[in-house]
Amino acid sequence: MLLDLPWHSFHLPEEALRWRAEVERISGLRVQLLRDGTMTDAEGEAWSEPGLRAVVLASDGNAMTIVHELGHLRLETLGWPHCYLCSEDPDWIERHYGLLSDLVSLIEHRAFFPAMLNMGLDPYAASEADLADAEVLAALRAMPAGVTPDWAVVMQLLRALLETGPVVAELVMQAAAHLTVESWLARHMAEIACAAPLTPEGFSRAMRGCWTLLGFPHDSLQIGEDEAADTAVEIDLNRPPLGDVLAQEVTPQFVLP
Ligand SMILES: [Zn+2]
Repeated sequence: MLLDLPWHSFHLPEEALRWRAEVERISGLRVQLLRDGTMTDAEGEAWSEPGLRAVVLASDGNAMTIVHELGHLRLETLGWPHCYLCSEDPDWIERHYGLLSDLVSLIEHRAFFPAMLNMGLDPYAASEADLADAEVLAALRAMPAGVTPDWAVVMQLLRALLETGPVVAELVMQAAAHLTVESWLARHMAEIACAAPLTPEGFSRAMRGCWTLLGFPHDSLQIGEDEAADTAVEIDLNRPPLGDVLAQEVTPQFVLP
């Protein structure tokens, strides 16, 4: 059940209102603010579809959530492309959807988190609280190192490197010091993300670079709507992802188990 909310029921910073105005001017559409009473696993979503621009809030959504989602919406409106997984195996897509969407989010956040901080909204605080939590750190320390990378851990470390201050980032990386493959991947993905210009082209380059580093076939990631119309490709699930990592030009800094 979607409920139309009036924008004036939230106090938003001037800069955020300019983001909304920019999306409306470029898209020619009014940005709707909606409440989704059924949304439980996320605080908010940005919807950008033909004929529709909307910020959707879960019931506990607040100004921080609205500005955060406006940030994503603005990037989409400015031409930052959508990313799609391609495979003939729906299970593979299902298993990797979260990884892709986390990666897209982390790379996009770099483009608007500093602006949110300037507005007096600290988007890094949530990551710091999540990742510096004693139980989360203990779980990381207790995690056995595997031969193939654990994608959830890679994304946890990448989030620490991109979205927490140096103290928490160091705490998290120390807790994961024995997870050499995940740590190496996260550090290199952070380098790729930080080196990319904050433009649609830079985003595409960072996504492609990280996806390649993770060892996935080139055709398993489609960037942009035109590409998504291409036919899906078959993916060799038997190939260990790390094989592709090692095939890259970069030299791994860890010793393989
Ligand atoms: Zn986000």
